[in-house]
Amino acid sequence: MCSIEEEIQTGDAETPSIRSRRRLVVEGLCHKCKQSPPVVDMKRVMYCKTCFKESVVYRFRGNLMRATKIADGAKALVAFSGGASSRLLLHLLSEFHEPDPSNLRKKRKFSDVLICHVDQSAVLGGEDKEAEVRRIGEKSGFPYLHIPLESIFSNDDGSDGGALVPVGFDLADTVTLKMVHRVTSTLSPVARLRRSIHGLGKMTAKEDLLHHFTMRALLNTARKEGCNVLILGDNATRMAIRILALTSKGGGFGLPIEVAGDTDWFEGLVVARPLRDVLSKEVAVYNQYTDLDTVVMPALTTAMPAKSSIDRMTEEFLVGLQRDFPMTVNTVVRTAAKVTSEHRAKTVMRCPMCGGPIQDGTNDWRSGHTVSQLLSHAPSSDTTSEALSSTSNTHPCSTSCACAPTVNPESTSTSCCTPADQPINIIPYLCYPCQNICRDAQEFGATAAKKGIDDATVILPAYVGEEITMRKGREWMKKEIEEFLIDEED
Ligand SMILES: [Zn+2]
Ligand SMILES: [Zn+2]
Repeated sequence: MCSIEEEIQTGDAETPSIRSRRRLVVEGLCHKCKQSPPVVDMKRVMYCKTCFKESVVYRFRGNLMRATKIADGAKALVAFSGGASSRLLLHLLSEFHEPDPSNLRKKRKFSDVLICHVDQSAVLGGEDKEAEVRRIGEKSGFPYLHIPLESIFSNDDGSDGGALVPVGFDLADTVTLKMVHRVTSTLSPVARLRRSIHGLGKMTAKEDLLHHFTMRALLNTARKEGCNVLILGDNATRMAIRILALTSKGGGFGLPIEVAGDTDWFEGLVVARPLRDVLSKEVAVYNQYTDLDTVVMPALTTAMPAKSSIDRMTEEFLVGLQRDFPMTVNTVVRTAAKVTSEHRAKTVMRCPMCGGPIQDGTNDWRSGHTVSQLLSHAPSSDTTSEALSSTSNTHPCSTSCACAPTVNPESTSTSCCTPADQPINIIPYLCYPCQNICRDAQEFGATAAKKGIDDATVILPAYVGEEITMRKGREWMKKEIEEFLIDEED
């Protein structure tokens, strides 16, 4: 019998503590049960089929049971795209939710489970695959909700929520994106959604906005259905890619929210990622052994080269590295989990576009390293808002008004009109990565307008404007009553 333990014992360099941590392995047999022939090699550990599946289930259950922020008896919404990872999530959750036959009095972790599929076909295509996703979802026995992504442009009651439309573009001014809320529009929600994604030039910006919209649709549905938990199928590989990509896009401040196994950052709702320790390769192998059917949905970068977006490039880099160094993904995820930021500080605001935290001083930092104004101003255009408007109030406010078009968030002193009707430069109210999305929209819109194309400009859902208006109102109110407030230190 040959074992690593025996080999180690002959080596002088190994200390007893390292030696004791090594597991006894038997060549030609599963490293865990040491009885069956191994069929899976995961991170250089050989498993038999049964032990491999047990290991995945163990990590999944462990993550859910350890999630301290999830109260027992919570109602859960499971995000289901039809892809491999969310398919496995659904399968494991159905088993997890089954009553324990050995202890029927044992309470379930979740009182109810709902499945939510956000249909992105308006942007990505693949409408023909929606029926298959529904079939798989309904087969699980949980209630199935089909939410079209374009619903983010509607109010909760399904009525038209209007949209934020740009008021002119200026290639020479990259730190301004003035937008105004239009109550009615001739564009359908699907057309608006397409304009918001295709009104961006770079694939990175498109992917980011699509991600924010999808997350928003999931959070909205969870709240509407009275759920306390939103369960996502993010696996370790996907999370590692997101961590590196987000950091490279300047989103490191919000990393603790993206990496957490369970986070209550989203008010009244815990977001859980129970597959955060399971590699995408393990997901594929498990699905194959269990005959779980999946649906391959198109993505924005399908059939595109690796350099088409930051996320796509990061994926290529990470997956390549993982091939030679099997601990890469786990190291990235575990290291990122140790990162702390001041995102829970009282002064930190929520970004109206992505819902993430906005680092204090973001605008000062950007203005310190960005050339925002070019001397020769290119002519600005005002085509989009005209095409979309039916109710428009173009009276400019005074610059000191809380709803003035060029208002500086710090300099408001009076309010004189309905803020929703006034154009707002939305960029200063967003987090750093979302500011980059808007800068992309500004550049792309200005270039298109220069060429006389007026239907290539970005449109945003009304909630972005509403949240900015609310924040401006709060800031204005705070300014008004500031002198009457008692300082905590006094
Ligand atoms: Zn085994
Ligand atoms: Zn943001």
